[in-house]
Amino acid sequence: MPAVTVEDTTTLPRVPLPAPRTVRRRTRSVTTAPSAYEGEGFPVRRAFAGVDLRALDPFLHMDQMGEVEYAPGEPKGTSWHPHRGFETVTYLIDGTFEHADSHGGGGTISNGDTQWMTAGGGVLHIERPPEELVVSGGLFHGLQLWVNLPRAQKWVEPRYQDLRADASVLLASPDAGAFLRVIAGEITDAGRSVVHRGPGSTYTPMAMVHATVSPGATLDLPWRPDFNALVYVLSGAGSVGIDGAPVRTGQLAVLGPGDTVTVRGAVHQESRTPALDVVILGGRPIDEPIAMYGPFVMNTADEVRDAFADFSAGRLGAIPAQRVSGPVPHGDLRGQTDPDA
Ligand code: MN
Repeated sequence: MPAVTVEDTTTLPRVPLPAPRTVRRRTRSVTTAPSAYEGEGFPVRRAFAGVDLRALDPFLHMDQMGEVEYAPGEPKGTSWHPHRGFETVTYLIDGTFEHADSHGGGGTISNGDTQWMTAGGGVLHIERPPEELVVSGGLFHGLQLWVNLPRAQKWVEPRYQDLRADASVLLASPDAGAFLRVIAGEITDAGRSVVHRGPGSTYTPMAMVHATVSPGATLDLPWRPDFNALVYVLSGAGSVGIDGAPVRTGQLAVLGPGDTVTVRGAVHQESRTPALDVVILGGRPIDEPIAMYGPFVMNTADEVRDAFADFSAGRLGAIPAQRVSGPVPHGDLRGQTDPDA
């Protein structure tokens, strides 16, 4: 689905115009996400593959799950597995997904909902399609983003935020050529007199926006100069940055410094993708050493070893009794691909 599905878009608040002397960001790199299969079998694009972690900071990893039309019996999820030291953000664009964790968090998300899990000091969780979707099959499309936690917050208590689609902030560009769903962070003008704030509460200051840009339209989005800026193409074709670097489905653009992110929809789109759909991400870099292996993201290799030891000893939580579906298989740790491996 596009970023905004409300019937009357004329009443939506508008994205503020960039300041008169705004610096529009230039494109630093464009990379193409390789396609792979998640351990349990759903098709994913590894959005950040081949990009230096320093350019991504505070983000670590992002998977585009689907878009896929499942046959009956085909939908797959993960087994119970651990995390420590970061946050997982799952934005479901089409379809339905269930989450449960060892800290009591959980719920079902669908069409435009987001679940935001802070693993902090450690949690076990499971992510899977609900039973009825397994039986019926159907459309499935979503994103999972990993956001790092600063050293001082790697040991916070786990937290689960259930962000419903109708809690997102919906905006239109000044000429209504683009529609935006603000999931986290703020969109403001230079004087901060206009503030549109998404519902996600984040430890690391960041913003996450889904935008649908019509063919031929230009989005000039004011963006905090202390944030980095990444534009990932969910579907469609267009260009990004003041330099107009061409991008298409499955490509990530890393932009340089400035205070505006520019995204243009190509005039000609494929018929199956009538507009350009992008996710725009930015955050304040944490700028600390990263030791990332499998499901754990710490500052040192010793801390990662401790995380594996704590997981083996059951110190990252226990699978809730009513949800036990067997022991956590060892292979699940390998299923969580380490982008650096
Ligand atoms: Mn997980």
